[in-house]
Amino acid sequence: MIAFLITILFLVAIVYVLTRIIALLNIDMQNGFTPGGELGVKEGDVIIPIINRLTFWFIHIFRALVVFSRDWHPRVSKHFKEFGGNWSTHCVINTHSAEFHKDLLVPKNANILSKGLYEDDQAYSAFDKNARINGMDLATYLRKKGIKILFVTGLATDWCVKETVLDARKNGFWVFVITSAMRPVNLKPGDEERAIKEMKAAGAIII
Ligand SMILES: [Zn+2]
Repeated sequence: MIAFLITILFLVAIVYVLTRIIALLNIDMQNGFTPGGELGVKEGDVIIPIINRLTFWFIHIFRALVVFSRDWHPRVSKHFKEFGGNWSTHCVINTHSAEFHKDLLVPKNANILSKGLYEDDQAYSAFDKNARINGMDLATYLRKKGIKILFVTGLATDWCVKETVLDARKNGFWVFVITSAMRPVNLKPGDEERAIKEMKAAGAIII
């Protein structure tokens, strides 16, 4: 009986410690990237229920950290075609495009990271040096919170998700890539497979 109780206590302690060092990172689940948006990713809305379930579990069951990243561009950005960049104008600060999708579960006082804030900022990665959450870059913020392991979801697999995962590895975080909770742009056929290969080669765990 004592051995059983000690085992249970031990397991509870392990789960408690684990939940202190994990975080869920939901990338760019905004109107601009979901169907109907300027850069709407095919089936970008299909993953919302999965992300919502994960968010719920992280917040209410594990009491763990959840971070939402968002593209948050000025009206004039070299990231946009009209100013010499590659992309249609999207996710301009305080526009419908920049808002999170209406079905996405975003808790009150959510931890939101904004990126692409400056005119010459491309900022695909949530770890971009200019991206900010509570006045800090993401790596500093996560380290302050004691986070070691990241679970990543969102849009799009072959752009912002990939760049975020590669930077997370460079910064020494363990990363789990939840492929069922992301979708690719696939500008070129095969981009998704290449992105997954690259993330795996960088040491991310693909699940
Ligand atoms: Zn952008």
